[in-house]
Amino acid sequence: MEEINYEKKGIVFNMQRFSVRDGAGIRTVVFLKGCPLKCKWCSNPESQTLKPMLLYSVSTCIHCGRCIATCRQGALSPDNPTFVDRTKCIACGECTAVCPTGALTIKGKYMTVGEVIKELKKDESAYRRSNGGITISGGEGLTQHEFVTELLKACHAQGWTTAFETTGFAQPEIIEAVIPHVDQVLLDIKCIDADKHEKNCGVRNDLILQNARRISEISNTIVRVPVIPGFNYSEEDIRKIVEFTKTLHNVKAIHLLPYHALGSNKYALLGREYEMETLENMRKEEVADLEKIVLDAGFECKVGG
Ligand code: SF4
Ligand code: SF4
Repeated sequence: MEEINYEKKGIVFNMQRFSVRDGAGIRTVVFLKGCPLKCKWCSNPESQTLKPMLLYSVSTCIHCGRCIATCRQGALSPDNPTFVDRTKCIACGECTAVCPTGALTIKGKYMTVGEVIKELKKDESAYRRSNGGITISGGEGLTQHEFVTELLKACHAQGWTTAFETTGFAQPEIIEAVIPHVDQVLLDIKCIDADKHEKNCGVRNDLILQNARRISEISNTIVRVPVIPGFNYSEEDIRKIVEFTKTLHNVKAIHLLPYHALGSNKYALLGREYEMETLENMRKEEVADLEKIVLDAGFECKVGG
């Protein structure tokens, strides 16, 4: 039997139970912090840093000042336009304990593999009944590759299937260490044009495309494409992704995810601006021509998450 380090610690920011959108059957999605990309439409901006963060909701705040008196770092002030000075805040959480309205919350919690497994066990009968299991999401789980490897091994030891939503952005040796423990990879391929990718996602895509080939050799892979107006919402962009996917192994399906401003409200909670503010949510019908390109190339296609 493979040895598993149940004491290995990682940083988790959410666990979503009874998901039916992130792999087969009923699943619990474990969201991990840390991501090397900075996609402009990111629906989990609180995931991007690899440490806990304080979220502040101005609409819930009654300006009682209790948190200001509690903070030993002097990080909170009504004179600050975003209220929280993030250069001073150490995310200790003391202010959240005194806030009477829940306007302050901490996102991100250090947990051991054993602690995560204990949580996941609550729904193990649902995984068994539905052929479901655990999905790792983020953020980018590969940024916590040692933790994620142990977690995936521990899930398999319980007899649960594993799925992994990934950007594919990591050093090749990390791919070799993690992906053999994944039953199904949901791999984002956002754009083939490297310059456009860098401008909109913060990194070039060379490593992603190189890793995509290896990932698809190791594990059953679905390619997922977030369709974003002004970035890749064109027949030319989708055709290039389809042509690239044809060169991969084991890929039967390409999923198209029309733009949705999911998570846009979180930017304000982090004191950040949402760059895609003016973009309307897309309807499924708006990607019908792109869906046809995928189907005509012989892939299965699902529109939406
Ligand atoms: S989390 Fe801690 S450091 Fe940050 S504002 Fe609250 S009390 Fe201050
Ligand atoms: S304790 Fe809560 S309600 Fe009071 S000022 Fe701070 S954030 Fe606002």
